[in-house]
Amino acid sequence: MAKQELRRQVVIIGSGPAGLTAAIYTGRANLNPLLIDAPTDAEKQTTPGGQLMITTEVENYPGFSEGVQGPDLMVEFRKQAERFGTEFLEEWINRVDLSERPFTLFTDHSIIKAETLIIASGASAKWLGVPGEAKTPKGFGGNGVSACATCDGPLPAFRNKRLVVVGGGDTAMEEATFLTRYASRVYVIHRRDKLRASKIMQEKAFRNEKIEFIWDAEVAEILGTPEHGVTGVRLRNTVDEEHFTLDCEGVFIAIGHKPNTDLFKGQIDMDNVGYIKTSHRSTATNIPGVFACGDVQDSVYRQAVTAAGTGCMAALDAERFLDHLPVEMPTGEELTMEGEHISPDHLRIIRADGEVVLNEPEEIVR
Ligand code: NAP
Repeated sequence: MAKQELRRQVVIIGSGPAGLTAAIYTGRANLNPLLIDAPTDAEKQTTPGGQLMITTEVENYPGFSEGVQGPDLMVEFRKQAERFGTEFLEEWINRVDLSERPFTLFTDHSIIKAETLIIASGASAKWLGVPGEAKTPKGFGGNGVSACATCDGPLPAFRNKRLVVVGGGDTAMEEATFLTRYASRVYVIHRRDKLRASKIMQEKAFRNEKIEFIWDAEVAEILGTPEHGVTGVRLRNTVDEEHFTLDCEGVFIAIGHKPNTDLFKGQIDMDNVGYIKTSHRSTATNIPGVFACGDVQDSVYRQAVTAAGTGCMAALDAERFLDHLPVEMPTGEELTMEGEHISPDHLRIIRADGEVVLNEPEEIVR
């Protein structure tokens, strides 16, 4: 069967807070965005709506004084994007070609041409892959096991409880320190006897009396019951291979995130972990007309509200680009759709044909 060919001014990849906010803004700007999101797939851990779909209560999204369930929040985002004319396509993108504009995206059933592309494909928390970790009912995911302390730590289920944080990087130190606000004790389980975290984060964690480190240990299994949730972890000493059990009521996996950028490898500038590099003051990538927002370009803040904020920025950047206005690039210079460069000091304009002109208003001769 022949593939359908679609042509759009704005194509957005990803339906988390970043992608849907970009859709709301570009929809209201009459740009009829097409939003492509991955179908639900348990193996690949994808769900339309992003990471909030696997969270329970969200207490820190502004505007909800009583909190809101993550999936309910994403339903509202989606309805708002639909209201302004967003078209949704639930298909896997197999390949992209960003070598020329319009950019081309290939799915099983469609070939999509995009004048501007907003990448909001997010990041996925890394998991250990041990028994007891999977989402309920298969394991205790959502019932004592979490990969986000900021999201779940303040929930009543974890108050005054013994909690485990797995990992030895900055995220683990940050999450362990954060959790001491609520927990009676926090155990950091690390597979080596040295942390990977930065010195300042390590020292903060070492100084905290509520945090105890268990070195050279790996989680072999998360223990619990469907009624009580997590009751403990079975640990394996990585030096002498001995197994032992630690009682606890919550497990936070903090072994890093993986940005969902495999599709773009070799075509767009990324850091060594795979996060897409964007300009400091805009969401522009190194490819004119391709913008990135949300967790796919943010390894630091990673909050729903910051993702939504950068989604709004990406939409405004795409609108500016389509309006032939200059957008700041990661190099600091500004660029228009026609290929005109404006130097970072704003003194010179380099036209697409190479001609250099001063960026001054022309004198009007009367
Ligand atoms: P990370 O630096 O990659 O650290 C991951 C940690 O998890 C490492 O200690 C690693 O152990 C451990 N680990 C990985 N796979 C494991 C497994 N299967 N079983 C047990 N342990 C495992 O990741 P991150 O902490 O998320 O940090 C990512 C980036 O974000 C870093 O650049 C970090 O500086 C930055 N960040 C910054 C801040 C901040 O500045 N406030 C906060 C969070 C993150 P090994 O050490 O043995 O490899």
